[in-house]
Amino acid sequence: MTDNYTTTNAGAPAPSDEHSLSLGPDGPLLLQDFYLIEQLAAFNRERVPERQPHAKGTGAFGRFEVTNDLSAYTKAAVFQPGAKTEVFVRLSGNAGERGSADTVRDTRGFSVKFYTSEGNLDIVGLDFPVFVIRDPIKFPQMVRSAKTRANNGCHDHNMQWDFWTLSPESAHQVTMIMSDRGIPKTFRNMDGFGLHAFSWLNAAGEICWVKFHFKTDQGIEWLTQEEGEQLAGTDSDYGMRDLHDAIERGEYPSWSVKVQIMPVEEAKSYRLNPFDVTKVWPHADYPLIDLGKLTLDRNFTDHHTEVEQATFAPHALVPGIGLSPDKLLLGRSFAYADAHRYRVGANHNQLPVNAPKCPVHSYSKDGQMRFVPSTDPVYAPNSYGGPKADPDRASVVRWAADGGMMVRAAYTLRPDDDDWGQAGALVRDVMDDAERERLVHNVVSHVSAGVKEPVLSRVFEYWRNIDPDIGKRIEDGVRANLK
Ligand code: NDP
Repeated sequence: MTDNYTTTNAGAPAPSDEHSLSLGPDGPLLLQDFYLIEQLAAFNRERVPERQPHAKGTGAFGRFEVTNDLSAYTKAAVFQPGAKTEVFVRLSGNAGERGSADTVRDTRGFSVKFYTSEGNLDIVGLDFPVFVIRDPIKFPQMVRSAKTRANNGCHDHNMQWDFWTLSPESAHQVTMIMSDRGIPKTFRNMDGFGLHAFSWLNAAGEICWVKFHFKTDQGIEWLTQEEGEQLAGTDSDYGMRDLHDAIERGEYPSWSVKVQIMPVEEAKSYRLNPFDVTKVWPHADYPLIDLGKLTLDRNFTDHHTEVEQATFAPHALVPGIGLSPDKLLLGRSFAYADAHRYRVGANHNQLPVNAPKCPVHSYSKDGQMRFVPSTDPVYAPNSYGGPKADPDRASVVRWAADGGMMVRAAYTLRPDDDDWGQAGALVRDVMDDAERERLVHNVVSHVSAGVKEPVLSRVFEYWRNIDPDIGKRIEDGVRANLK
């Protein structure tokens, strides 16, 4: 007898780790071997549906500390001077499936869950400051074009460039993906961005628009195409392992958290639409302002329950921070929560990694896998002392929208709203000659791997629109490879 014995899922001592129940040593297996059946059935149910994008990921727990006083702009408790808040951060690839390699050319997910005293705040961002599309109706199409084809189940660069070149708003992010930063050396060596404009509300009831930036304190480091490919073949979990091992060694990665703040009045007449998520707010107009420090200092102990089942939702906001007219943000506010209900279940917020660390007084009730008991009264309004919604406390941010007819239309254009300008500025004004050379190399090798006419000609035109010289060099390079 041992005290360290296997049990069934119901806690009873298990009959054997090694042998199924059979009729004699060589005979058939018996249906009453409930333990064999439990083992096989549980195994068959181990995987929950993987995320559509960002399927492969890792994460860590840590803390966020406010280092500056921005209380004039937001009353959110998490952003008040001196506040310290526990966080969970998930870092991920994007297009690849759960078994994909960490060192492929792709965007990376950068999602932060702040367990604030006023509810959970999720900033569900990327390692780039811009998104690839701006209208949520294209979201499923965009993800499908980065995934696999129907007739062979394979990823396909032709499909990818077809979608990108037919969606010129992609140019800014695609330029970043094809640049050095398209393969961060590790998750620790990349920045994070909240992408969208959010609203902040202060104690006086005034709002402003904000963007979040998480600047790596480890320094930006990246891999060349060839280094990335080599690591993908030898250690596909390179990025996950690096984060885990660094924290294990006590080398806690951190990010300096900064914001850009745009006054509401300026936003109305700013030269580009500040809610277009394919654009940045130029630093010269809206400099980065210190907000705090994000540090990761504790590894998860079980990837499935703490990372795979972690759920982040752009609508998860707290008093003092709200949505904005960014259409993609508004679309994501529905889509992510819906994905979690499908993937993890209606009660996903009760799992420890997702559960708020403040009291929950919701009237939601029952559903699969609910384990936090509901209490009476189970409806509102009621005469029996149940919680009452407090709109003042909720402080939902509101903004005035244009009246008029319902339409399906692009944003109203402003002078600097073209799709190529900021991508071109990145190539010409931010990159140096060596970076531009590597950009051309990266695009040429990506496009040479399977892009065909009529997509090919559009790829050349796309890059000529970003920058005529870079476009020509890319066309020359691809045509030389095709000879
Ligand atoms: P600045 O000229 O003031 O600074 C350039 C910015 O580009 C820095 O934040 C730098 O990050 C970042 N950067 C450098 N190389 C790359 C790359 N390969 N991929 C992504 N980002 C990179 O910026 P401006 O505001 O004047 O904008 C110029 C261009 O810079 C924009 O069109 C945009 O493409 C890019 N950019 C702008 C950002 C913004 O919020 N304004 C944010 C990120 C990029 P770092 O400081 O870490 O070196």
